[in-house]
Amino acid sequence: MATSLLKLISSFFILISIFISQAVAQSDGCQSESKNSCNNKSAALPLKLIAIASILVTSMIGVCLPLFSRSIPALAPDRNLFIIVKAFASGIILATGFMHVLPDSFDMLWSPCLKENPWHKFPFTGFVAMLSAIFTLMVDSIATSLYTKKNNTGVIPEIEVADMAADNTGEHFHGHHHGPKIGIEGSQLLRYRVVAMVLELGIVVHSVVIGLSMGASNNTCTIKPLVAALCFHQMFEGMGLGGCILQAEYKFLKKALMVFFFSVTTPFGIAIGIALSKTYKENSPTSLITVGLLNASSAGLLIYMALVDLLSADFMGPKLQGSIKLQIKSYVAVLLGAGGMSVMAKWA
Ligand SMILES: [Zn+2]
Repeated sequence: MATSLLKLISSFFILISIFISQAVAQSDGCQSESKNSCNNKSAALPLKLIAIASILVTSMIGVCLPLFSRSIPALAPDRNLFIIVKAFASGIILATGFMHVLPDSFDMLWSPCLKENPWHKFPFTGFVAMLSAIFTLMVDSIATSLYTKKNNTGVIPEIEVADMAADNTGEHFHGHHHGPKIGIEGSQLLRYRVVAMVLELGIVVHSVVIGLSMGASNNTCTIKPLVAALCFHQMFEGMGLGGCILQAEYKFLKKALMVFFFSVTTPFGIAIGIALSKTYKENSPTSLITVGLLNASSAGLLIYMALVDLLSADFMGPKLQGSIKLQIKSYVAVLLGAGGMSVMAKWA
């Protein structure tokens, strides 16, 4: 299942890249940029090459940081610090959805470059984001029930849930490590894996698009600060994703693949942007609609996943329900993660 998901995601990734590059190659932009002293194509190119290299490295550092945390004993999965770091990562993912991807989509689909009818008559962003959240729930629940049926543990989860609810009221969680537990742990692991894959998919769209708009720009005044901003952006987002890859407990090769996919997306976007910078118009209706709708659906996906699969799953779980003190620490971590990513929305 995980392998076919990986294949699905890599083909989706390639498809999206082709799709976006096709869409933005249209040259029917509605307003041309005014010429200013900052526009210098020959000076912009080396800056973009520097950007490709530095963003690649910082993305890798960001996404690998949580993965290497395995070697630190204080960050073992059953320790409190691990829970707090995970809460921080979930906060980042939540803010990516609410503060980066959703507003981007609103901007694009409400653009004055689009026709009044139908784009300004109906809030397409909210509609698509909502549908995407419902769709994510559907995939989530159907995949889980199919997996449960396949493993023939259909009756056990109910008992186990009641058991866990009883544990929640007590101060400590005493685990039963006999038979039925394995079923729940198996489906929990599968869930973590699906979450990590789907999150990567949701993040990829935003990462390609921010790279693309930088690659296509020749404004040396804005590129310089943007390189630094994008490095931080990718590092932060990488930390969020890395936290989720960590708990999916993939084998080395799959982990490396997911790290690779995430790290190359923004540099890849910049490269497409450079290649298309002659014909690329950020404001062409086709590119606004394509990227706007893609952003809306990934916003719904990211928000659902962050709230339901990451935050709610942890905060309602036995470990955090058992300790108010740990809950408060985790909420501080969520706010820090979400706050940091929100600050970055100022630039990209
Ligand atoms: Zn962003």
